[in-house]
Amino acid sequence: MCENPLRALPKMDVLLSHPILLAARERVPYALIRQAARNKLEEVRRDVLAGAAVPPVDTLAGEISEIAQSMGRPGLKRVINATGVVLHTNLGRAPLARQAVEAVCEAAEGYSSLEYDLDKACRGSRHSHVETLLCSLTGAEAAMAVNNNAAAVFLMLSALAAGKGVAVSRGELVEIGGAFRVPEIMAASGAILREVGTTNKTRRSDYERAILAGEAQALLKVHTSNYQIVGFTEDTPLSQLSELAAAHDVPLLCDVGSCVLSPASLPNLPAPSAAAALADGADVVCFSGDKLLSGPQAGIVLGKKQYIDAMKRHPLARVVRIDKLSLAALEATLLLLRDPESARETLPVLSMLNARSEDLHTRAERLAAGLREALGDDYTVSVLPCTGQVGGGSLPNAELPGFCAAITAGPGVPEGLEAAFRRHKVPILCRIHHGALLLDVRTLRAEDEGEILRAAEAVRGTSR
Ligand SMILES: *Cc1c(COP(=O)(O)O)cnc(C)c1O
Repeated sequence: MCENPLRALPKMDVLLSHPILLAARERVPYALIRQAARNKLEEVRRDVLAGAAVPPVDTLAGEISEIAQSMGRPGLKRVINATGVVLHTNLGRAPLARQAVEAVCEAAEGYSSLEYDLDKACRGSRHSHVETLLCSLTGAEAAMAVNNNAAAVFLMLSALAAGKGVAVSRGELVEIGGAFRVPEIMAASGAILREVGTTNKTRRSDYERAILAGEAQALLKVHTSNYQIVGFTEDTPLSQLSELAAAHDVPLLCDVGSCVLSPASLPNLPAPSAAAALADGADVVCFSGDKLLSGPQAGIVLGKKQYIDAMKRHPLARVVRIDKLSLAALEATLLLLRDPESARETLPVLSMLNARSEDLHTRAERLAAGLREALGDDYTVSVLPCTGQVGGGSLPNAELPGFCAAITAGPGVPEGLEAAFRRHKVPILCRIHHGALLLDVRTLRAEDEGEILRAAEAVRGTSR
């Protein structure tokens, strides 16, 4: 009566020689199967002690095989972005241009001239590959690239403002993506934050007072890229700050966050431009490589040579340096940006943001027709207007009018169908809105459509 219920658990060696697990060895390393079996038995032991029955050994073996196989698969998977959010932070932000992907493969496969000067046959600089391009594209005197923009801000403050007071408007003390907060980054860099003005209004005289009082030896402007203060507001433009910085001989630093190199690559949206920030008198400008620039994760720094040189020489430059794969992708992206008009086609982010409404409508019609056929008569599919977003904390108020294929009725619409699409072999992420499942075509790549239709056919297969 009081028999130990754990006795009914299969022994490890019995389990491992179950036919299902013997067969699994052809596909998965034995060590993974053993690990999965150990974890599963541990879990079942806990359940049994809590009163559950011991599952049949076939069920256990099947589950262990499934777990072992998923342990062998990479967790970082390609997904299909049908959300209409172009720079989706959780989905890896900017997809790369084909040329950038090829450059990454080439740099990854073999050796490269990363830090070797092929003309002079001596050690070269990894900055050289993008510096000339960045300067010619923006008019900057000097440039460098680091790991990401958070690193760029950190290096800029560490190299140029450690131990100095840095005046920042209270309206610009932003937090980006949870962990990057201007006051905290500043404290970590050794710069001393001098808040000036108020949340909604900061005037030139507020900055000037901090300089005259000896509290600020540098000025920092942070683009409030993920929110906007509206209403009764006043903000001091860069051009005014640069007069002030020049008059008092203090550096003017600017974290633009997300920008294009020139307005011509994104004519329809009010995107900040790096060239404009420099022309307005910023001494150093930094921004992300994988936001509106449509390149790899990187932080790009442009500005006066004396400041960029000081940043390159700083010990942290090595800590935050850009890796060769990102550098290869960045160089290829910049080469494409030399021709802003064709970059609107070749760079995925620019092409999605510049997509014409008529084209999106045609694509949504085609996808809806395919879905109607694949899902069958139990479902209702139509084309609806929808609004895409830039995402990535960039241009929060920009609305991108477009079209989506909307599955408005049918078995499991919307939650069940959303989950089925999300669990597809290539996961498909879409939006639920007013009880319908929306697939925004703006963020779909050419090859995604076929995969979506395969997922829809699989749904129809299981609902019969
Ligand atoms: C996005 C952003 C950052 C951080 O850039 P990462 O490339 O994510 O490191 C910093 N400052 C501003 C204003 C931003 O918009």
